[in-house]
Amino acid sequence: MNMELLVATHNEHKKEEIQQILGHNFRVKSLSDYNINEEIIEDGHSFNANALIKAKYCFEKTNIPSLGDDSGLVVEALDGRPGIFSARYAGDHDFAKNIQKVLDEMEGIENRKAYFITVLCYYDKNGPIYFEGRVQGNLLTHHKGAKGFGYDPIFVPEGKDKTFAEMDPQDKNKISHRKQALDLFLDFLKVPEKK
Ligand code: IMP
Repeated sequence: MNMELLVATHNEHKKEEIQQILGHNFRVKSLSDYNINEEIIEDGHSFNANALIKAKYCFEKTNIPSLGDDSGLVVEALDGRPGIFSARYAGDHDFAKNIQKVLDEMEGIENRKAYFITVLCYYDKNGPIYFEGRVQGNLLTHHKGAKGFGYDPIFVPEGKDKTFAEMDPQDKNKISHRKQALDLFLDFLKVPEKK
């Protein structure tokens, strides 16, 4: 099998990460490969809705089976915030500001439970199918570690004693929300995982 898959991103790093996980059975393409330069407006009210908006937009533009994704951090004591607003909670992709806002809102709160979630939406001629990955953990009261991105420096996955930002990327990627969602997608396509 050799299947083309359009990933609804301009981010070449994301494209490469997905290509690596999916392996040689796929030719992973990004929006840039199709000269689609418009920004897709993600105005859904849930992770699923945003993933659908992206995947459907790509499929309708190209007729190529498409994958949309939406991820974020969900904090129990904050009623699920930052949730779908994770990327721009305090400042657009300003990771330091976003972390600080979460830490400020969590000040004095004992329940530190949170999870990262990824929803993937695969869209082809049969319509949408969703795959969801979650990793549970706890939030620290201060930053630890310099690797990764986003909220990694304050998130300790369950059963570990390091934040995501202290873990090597290979170790994070074995258990991450994104990996779990992609594994379900691979199961659905019945493609053996590239080891
Ligand atoms: P996206 O949907 O993959 O662009 O993720 C949206 C936002 O969620 C990112 O800008 C980050 O703030 C946060 N996020 C998603 N995945 C991770 C992760 O693995 N580590 C830390 N933050 C993440």
